[in-house]
Amino acid sequence: MKRAYNFNAGPSAMPEEVLKEAQAEFLNYKDTGMGIIEMSHRSNEYDTMHQETKVLLRELMDIPDNYEILFIQGGGSTQFMMAAANFLHKKAAYINTGVWAKKAMAEAKFFGEAYEAASSADRNHSYIPQEFDIQPGTDYVHLTANNTIYGTEYPEFPKFDIPVICDMSSDILSRRVNVADFDLIYAGAQKNLGPAGVVIAIIKKEFLETARTELPTMLKYSTFAEKDSLYNTPPVFAIYMVNKTLHWIKNRGGVDAVAANNIAKANVIYDVIDNSNGFYKGHAEKEYRSLMNITFNLATPEMEKDFITKGKEAGFIGINGHRSVGGCRASTYNAVPMEACAALADFMKQYQKEHE
Ligand SMILES: *Cc1c(COP(=O)(O)O)cnc(C)c1O
Repeated sequence: MKRAYNFNAGPSAMPEEVLKEAQAEFLNYKDTGMGIIEMSHRSNEYDTMHQETKVLLRELMDIPDNYEILFIQGGGSTQFMMAAANFLHKKAAYINTGVWAKKAMAEAKFFGEAYEAASSADRNHSYIPQEFDIQPGTDYVHLTANNTIYGTEYPEFPKFDIPVICDMSSDILSRRVNVADFDLIYAGAQKNLGPAGVVIAIIKKEFLETARTELPTMLKYSTFAEKDSLYNTPPVFAIYMVNKTLHWIKNRGGVDAVAANNIAKANVIYDVIDNSNGFYKGHAEKEYRSLMNITFNLATPEMEKDFITKGKEAGFIGINGHRSVGGCRASTYNAVPMEACAALADFMKQYQKEHE
């Protein structure tokens, strides 16, 4: 069987090794005579895996001891609401870098005042703002690390003297970040870490203490922290796949090695764009280009459609842009191999030759 060149934006490619391991264990996890999704989340076998996942994540991301690691359901979109429910007391600042950031801000408005402290809307979110208008009395500032739809990413994170909440759904573990610069990081697993179904939340204990207390049980981060994400049944299969993916990252040399590979992979494709004499036009401004989502346009929507169709025939899946912006996008998450990126680069060069 030949695996597809999978450039899907999310859910997206998983490491082949991880899928094979899960397949091999699916009917019989560690000689229990059952799969991990068939056993109690209170069993020793499950608990060992659950704890190990946290240890691995702490090690790979270098997460300080005063941070809790939580596994929550509901995707990144539920975090938009949950973060605000817990931490928006009066007002919160949102950096509008596109669709996801805007959605986060819209949810926050249910809980208090949410204002735009900066926006890249004036140039269709092709860059990351560098100046922020933070008002006095702001509870936190919310950032979107990587803008999956536009293909922009913070090259470096700005520093603030108020708490920082960051949505890392589409670039967690793709590069090194200093966790101590953030008070809450959240990320849906389905882009870089595993299947849909679990969100990883990394939260500073001191920040957690400032959370609103009069909230329903499942909306409180403290419930997850106090009960080790086992207050209710956790998404066991998703966590198990994250566990395997973390092992895979570790075996490849950790985050720095994976990041170096991500830079090399993205450059193979960006180089084609940059050397195409304008045949391909990158959407993101160069210094804000994402390593995870490479967005570009051809001369006309008709040509883009043809490019995507021919690409599909040649085995390249998921190279269409997000429905809200159009164009083309190749998502090159951790699990997408260099071989796929090199093949896409070759295809792009060939396509240009035939259509110039
Ligand atoms: C995909 C994505 C989301 C939404 O995640 P869901 O799990 O589908 O709710 C949020 N933020 C970013 C940056 C994303 O890429």
